[in-house]
Amino acid sequence: MNNLSEAYWMPFTARNGFRKEPRVIVGAEGCHYTSEDGRKVFDSLSGLWCCGFGHNRIEIAEAVKAQLTSLDYSPAFQYGHPKVFELADRLVEIAPKGLAHAFFTDSGSESADTSLKIARAYWRMAGRPEKTKMIGRIKGYHGANFAGTSLGGIGPNRRLFGLLADADHLPHTLRKEDAFSRGQPQGGEELADHLEDLVTLHDASNIAAVIVEPIAGSAGVIVPPSAYLQRLRAICDRHDILLIFDEVITGFGRTGERFGSDAFGVVPDIMNLAKTLTNGAVPMGAVLVKDEIYQAFVDESAPDHLIGFPHGYTYTGHPVGCAAALAALDIFDREDMPGRVRTLAPTFENMLHALRGEPHIVDVRNFGLAGAIQIEPRDSDPLVRPYELGLACWNQGLYVRWGGDTLQFAPPFVSTVDDIEQMGEILRLALKKVS
Ligand code: PLP
Repeated sequence: MNNLSEAYWMPFTARNGFRKEPRVIVGAEGCHYTSEDGRKVFDSLSGLWCCGFGHNRIEIAEAVKAQLTSLDYSPAFQYGHPKVFELADRLVEIAPKGLAHAFFTDSGSESADTSLKIARAYWRMAGRPEKTKMIGRIKGYHGANFAGTSLGGIGPNRRLFGLLADADHLPHTLRKEDAFSRGQPQGGEELADHLEDLVTLHDASNIAAVIVEPIAGSAGVIVPPSAYLQRLRAICDRHDILLIFDEVITGFGRTGERFGSDAFGVVPDIMNLAKTLTNGAVPMGAVLVKDEIYQAFVDESAPDHLIGFPHGYTYTGHPVGCAAALAALDIFDREDMPGRVRTLAPTFENMLHALRGEPHIVDVRNFGLAGAIQIEPRDSDPLVRPYELGLACWNQGLYVRWGGDTLQFAPPFVSTVDDIEQMGEILRLALKKVS
């Protein structure tokens, strides 16, 4: 491609590497991309964890077109449109029991900001305004806005920006002894118990919420040990701390259940969504909350003109986003996406774990259709081999994501057994090729 204009400042992209070996995508269909040089490339990350139902779903395209030619935009504040109410109903219907209201955003990062603002405002409304501190987790990722940058726990994402909000962090849940676990490792209560230490340090009277991803995705698919999330829930309950699940990647079938919350049997107070909400076709996110939280903002006796929750975005509940999400939810139901994931997950798990013993692999992790291989550092640099592996895969017809010392995978739910097996073959070749 001739025009790799530097007018475009690329996000989370290594400029020099990209300019040396540009990777330009010009089309997509089903589970594959088309590269600029006309090659068919398997999409092993569903875009960026968002296109689980496969690319270019015609049902979504038609719904978007119909919306764009009937109501392209409707003011988000003080007015509504039919599809946004319908979408909230549909989401609440499939959500874990108790999550009864949806606030719409435009991305996972906005969902992080929104959920944390809701948590702080909730305690204020409940007469406990000192409960402001927020707890994230080392290796967590909650997007790139102020809240996500502060609560996230991936060093390179924070270093450049300093401390942006009043946050502390739990330790991560990646234990050496769990290497090569299939699915969930056992136990993990002691990891959750660190929350008690933070409560002792800060006092529960000052803590608003804990936010975690049920499965940490961007740090390399870290699956929660079997007792971890239950223990976290119990400690939050004991100390009146809200528990937020960031389900931006685990929502809508990735785990083999509708949500990570269903897969792991723990219901949060607040759940953040985005990505597969519209199958990646239109930027949109949502924050689901328990009725008790919503009700804190409702005062039937307040004057008619008073706004209870002064928060929202120009594009909150955008009609086109709603149309895309409703069409995506139809596909989700009709094609039983969680069921498809459950059917394909054993093939995916076997493919990944069969790579054990190939050069450079120090861990393989997986749950549902999420997985990662962890790569041994070369010359004390953990980032160089995953980068070279990513390029080798791309050149062989496989798009993978490299991040930190891992390659991460989240293939579309509509992948075939053949797709997954071929993916394994390309990974094997790449691992042998890279020094
Ligand atoms: N939360 C999690 C768990 C994510 O994985 C991501 C993105 O990968 C985000 C939040 C941020 O989403 P967005 O990039 O849509 O802002």
